[in-house]
Amino acid sequence: MVERALAAIDLGAIERNCAHLRSLLGGGARLCAVVKADAYGHGDVWCAKAALAGGAEWLAVATAGEAAELRRHGIDTRILVMGALTHEDAKVAVEAVADVVVWDARFARALAELHTPGTVPVNVHVKLDTGMGRLGTKDVSEARAVADLALADERLKLAGAMTHFATADEEGDDHFPAQLESFTPFARELKQAHPEIVVHAANSAATFRDSDAHFDMVRCGVAIYGLDPFQRDPAGRGLEPALALSSYLATVKRFEPGESAGYGRRWSASEPTWVGTVPIGYGDGWRRALSNNCDVLVRGRRHPLIGTISMDNITIELGTETDVEPGEPAVLIGAQGGERILCEEVAERIGTINYEVTCGLSARVRRQWRSAAAS
Ligand SMILES: *Cc1c(COP(=O)(O)O)cnc(C)c1O
Repeated sequence: MVERALAAIDLGAIERNCAHLRSLLGGGARLCAVVKADAYGHGDVWCAKAALAGGAEWLAVATAGEAAELRRHGIDTRILVMGALTHEDAKVAVEAVADVVVWDARFARALAELHTPGTVPVNVHVKLDTGMGRLGTKDVSEARAVADLALADERLKLAGAMTHFATADEEGDDHFPAQLESFTPFARELKQAHPEIVVHAANSAATFRDSDAHFDMVRCGVAIYGLDPFQRDPAGRGLEPALALSSYLATVKRFEPGESAGYGRRWSASEPTWVGTVPIGYGDGWRRALSNNCDVLVRGRRHPLIGTISMDNITIELGTETDVEPGEPAVLIGAQGGERILCEEVAERIGTINYEVTCGLSARVRRQWRSAAAS
């Protein structure tokens, strides 16, 4: 049965990707599955459960609301909220019994004030900015002071030490090793004094790139969805894409030379040909920059998207001869027959990264989760 705009998520693939990532971890490092931004557009609750089934032991999100959402669905694993928090956000995070990231004393004290007497202390992870230049403190002594503050206040618990890499996906650059080098002594010193803390630094790219970056835990996002952090074919690293995006042909029409399709007439037929209309568009997250600039699969063959992408429709050229009829499935991301369109291909065409392609699929695209057993 066809559907207007469907993102089918293979939860078995997510489970297998997590198991594969775990198999890369030596020395007992744990896998934390990053399910922020609705699991990069894949659906946070289902993906979180699949990741846990695949061997992830922690979850991470960006916002307090995302942590609360997972809790509402009965997920009781450790959840790390990685983002910056307003006072209101911090309340939500504490209520959700999530771990939070701290890098200044003022925030750590405010967090302690939010603790409810008689409940477990608030778990905090001290963040050192070793060269991402975003969140965290660049000052090692400030990081130590924040750690000491958490150790001294019974309302807080020092749970971790972390950093984040800026260029782990740029193989061969020298910023990544420099970040690792400045984080390692800080992490080692804190770990020696407090062996129970969890030291973590690696995103997906760093996890593949260097086992010295694994420490006690890795925070993998993009790779658990089977997307390649280096923007190549995910199969090269043993990853299986979990998401497929499909629609269908609503009309099939014959075009005479000079007849155009779409707003602005940015494509017109140069010879007699057949054009199909697929009712999906930038309102679904199929970016307008893909106008005249991507392929769509029909009956296992690539067909060029022609003309301007509208909010609700795209047009594809089926060729001078066609036996394709309305109602035929159309695949925008995923495999059909022997052909396949990777998210990485779509991203490259518009100068972005696979992350942005799946995150950008709008709420209007229905998500359908296929369980591991069914795949
Ligand atoms: C998003 C994020 C990750 C996961 O990154 P991927 O490249 O998707 O693996 C890890 N750590 C932090 C701090 C993040 O914000």
